[in-house]
This record gives sequence, structure tokens and C-alpha cells, in this order.
Amino acid sequence: MNGASLWRALDQGAAHRPALSGTEEAEIAIVGAGVAGLSLACELAAAGRSVCVIEADEPGSGALGASAGIVAPQLVRTTPNKVLARLGPEVGPGWLRLVGESGSHLFDLISALNIDCDARPQGFIAPARGVDAGARLEAIVQEWRPFRRDLTALDAADTAQMTGCRGYDAAILDASGGGVNPLRLAAGLAARSVEAGAQLFHHSRVGDLERVGERWRLHAGAGTLWAKQVVLCANGGNQSLHPALDSTVLPMRVHELSTSPVSQNLRASVLPGGQALTDLEPDIFSIRFAEGGRMITYYPVSGGATRAGVEKAVNRRLSQMLNAFEPIRIEHLWEGVAWMNSSLLPRIVALGPGLLAIQACNGRGIATNAIVGREISRMLLSDGRYRPTIAYESPNPIARVPFMRHVPDMMLRMARAVRQARTGLLGR
Ligand SMILES: Cc1cc2nc3c(=O)[nH]c(=O)nc-3n(C[C@H](O)[C@H](O)[C@H](O)COP(=O)(O)OP(=O)(O)OC[C@H]3O[C@@H](n4cnc5c(N)ncnc54)[C@H](O)[C@@H]3O)c2cc1C
Repeated sequence: MNGASLWRALDQGAAHRPALSGTEEAEIAIVGAGVAGLSLACELAAAGRSVCVIEADEPGSGALGASAGIVAPQLVRTTPNKVLARLGPEVGPGWLRLVGESGSHLFDLISALNIDCDARPQGFIAPARGVDAGARLEAIVQEWRPFRRDLTALDAADTAQMTGCRGYDAAILDASGGGVNPLRLAAGLAARSVEAGAQLFHHSRVGDLERVGERWRLHAGAGTLWAKQVVLCANGGNQSLHPALDSTVLPMRVHELSTSPVSQNLRASVLPGGQALTDLEPDIFSIRFAEGGRMITYYPVSGGATRAGVEKAVNRRLSQMLNAFEPIRIEHLWEGVAWMNSSLLPRIVALGPGLLAIQACNGRGIATNAIVGREISRMLLSDGRYRPTIAYESPNPIARVPFMRHVPDMMLRMARAVRQARTGLLGR
């Protein structure tokens, strides 16, 4: 079930830009106009480099524009100590600092570039359940301490008051998170990169790229682009652009929905401080407010579900979750694909001379991919002298992809079934 997103409905239409045609040249080619590609383009163009961004559709057409717009500068299903153990003492600390800094970086960038995208830097809350939740989350905050000091562990009472939700035993409050309108963020970054001198081509899907002498040749539709350096920022689309990236990510279909504007009463009770929320439970619950007092929430929609069925199920879930529940109407229900790599950590992959890729989306990349874009720009601008905070990694193919590609969806469905069984609500 895939309708237009709230962001698309609020959108005035992307600025018209041409498709690639004929032969163009640039020093640096960026494939994909999501947050990774556009933040990189902004930095490079502002530094006076010759940059060309090639986008298959329009800016924000991928995961960015389908997202809930939650700025969550947090790790996904892992902890700082596990990241340190995985990445080692050379790379791990800088990497954690980068994630910790990513929310402030994004809001600072939005403000410095004067991008009108309904930025809400009021914070992000990650609540959890269980008798050990308080100790678990306090330990995570302590693990973060050497790298950032903007996290607070909340007890059950503070969590209930700050979220307006029932049943949580603790939470992490991340003061550097919040929310944005992701499509307007994309449009703003695209406009600023063009103003700074970047070329941006819409409706130009890069079909292949090849090394010819000291340069790369990219083909998109009827056009060709030559560049000394290429950065692949096409998210799941990277896979088809280089054989080493094939089978390195798995798709996860994610549905988001927005309600019609909710009552003042509901607005005042749920997230009264204006933060965004995504919990740490297997059956993820996520909620935030957007333009016009609309509520956005994630719901795992099964194949064959009707819109009326989804509305009923969402109301049932909200009635369990919210203290001041009032029935909601779904205004927009949309679907996107988040791409997961094996570590759930963003990576920079070096694929050969003058060819880099940013991977991956991991369902929480708005802040992190923006700062990874900045890291790559620093590397390219220093001609390799800048030592990146995030190290290059080798492509890491996932085994048995035909089976594994169903695993993220299966896990979401299983988590929902377990929750429904627990609450005695099996069936619709
Ligand atoms: C439904 C959903 C909800 C999400 N919610 C959140 C959230 O609330 N907070 C959060 O932090 N993250 C969220 N995420 C994840 C987040 O959206 C991504 O991590 C992030 O936007 C990825 O940015 P990106 O620039 O790497 O990729 P994308 O935004 O996917 O951009 C890649 C671009 O490349 C283009 N492209 C692809 N192939 C080609 C090609 N061959 N040639 C040219 N262009 C190409 C695509 O059209 C696209 O515009 C969500 C994801 C989904 C799907």
C-alpha cells in the first residue's frame, strides 16, 4: 500500500532542472540527490570545486523523502561499547564522536544555509520497557560519556511526562535530535548546492560507469559525464553501479502515516516538549508532530491490508500507547525502502582510484549520512591529507541474499505478532 507522503502533499513541486544530455565534465560526480549526496555537494561547491550531481528522479525521491524526518543521532540496535569492540581503538572513538555530533551538525547546516524545512531541534527520545530498562539505558548513556554529554537517562515518571505514552520504564533523551520536513530539506540542500555552483541533473539514472584513462565515464539516459572523482550516494541504487557493492545491503519496506491535524488536548499531552520519539523495542513505536499539528507514526502494514484496516489497527495501537488517546484519521499513508547493511553502521567504501561509495541507510541515516557527506568533502578537499573520522571499509557482501532479503521484513512482522500475542490482540 503506497500513497503519496505527507511531504509530497505539502510540497510545492521541485525546481525544474534538466536531465543529463550530451557530454558534460566535472571534477567530482555525485550519484544520488539524497541527504548524503546533497550535503556533500553543498560542501564541495561552497569550497569552489566543480561538482555535478546526477539524480535518477528528483532530490529526496529515495529514502530521505519517504522518511519520518526524525533526526536521531543515535546508534541502531547496538551500543557504544559494541561499536568500539567492532571498530577498534583507532577508528571507534572518532566514529562515535561523529554520530554524537551529527544532529547538531545537521541543524547547524540547515540554519547556516537558511533552509526552510520546518526544523524542530527540540530533541529525540528513545524509551524502553522492562524492569532492567533504567539500568540498561543509564549504562548506554555512561558508555557515550567520553564522546558526548548531551544525553540524559530518564526514569519512568519523567519518561511518562515527557512522552505522554504508557508502559515505558525509562528513556534516553538526546538533546541534539528532533525533526525536519525531509523533502524540503532535500529541496533546500539542492537549491543551495546549485547556488554555490554545483550542476544538478534530474531524471537521469546512472546506468553504468567505467574507468577510462585517469577519469570515470558515467552514462545516464542520453547523456555522458566525465569526472576525475565519483562518489556513489545512491543508497540501495549503489548496488547496481559496481560489482563489489552487489548484495551488500538488504531492503526493508517501511510504512509511515500522518494523521489529520489532532486536537489541542492530544497535542498538549503527547510529546509536549516537541521532541520526536522512536522506542527501542523490537516492535518499534515511533511518533512525532509535523506541520499543521499532524501526527506521524510508523506502522508495519501487512500485504493485503486495507486502508480502513490499517486505520483501525493504528487506532488500537495508539489507544494502548497514549495516555490522552483520541481516535485519529489517516491522511497520508506511504511506503519507502530502507536499506540495511550487515553492521547497521554507515560506511565509506573505497572501490578504486577516484571512486568512493557511502553506505548505507540503516533506517536512521538523516543525521549520520549528512555528516558522512561532510567527512568525504573534507577528505576530497584536503587531497587525502585529512584523516577521516570514519575509516574506509571493504564492501561486505551478505550471504544467501535471496533468503536474507526477506529477513528485515520478517523480523518486523514477528515483533508485531509477539506484541499482539502479549496484549491478547491477535487478529484484527
Ligand atoms: C519509510 C522510511 C522512514 C525513515 N525514517 C527515518 C527517520 O525518521 N529518521 C532517519 O534518520 N532516517 C529515517 N529513514 C532512513 C533515512 O531516510 C535514510 O537513512 C537516509 O535518507 C538515506 O539518505 P541517502 O542520501 O543515503 O539515500 P536516499 O535518500 O535514498 O538517496 C539516494 C538517491 O539516489 C538516487 N538514485 C538511486 N539510484 C540511482 C542511480 N542509478 N542514478 C542516479 N540516482 C540514483 C535515488 O533516486 C535517491 O534520490 C527512513 C527510511 C524509510 C524508508
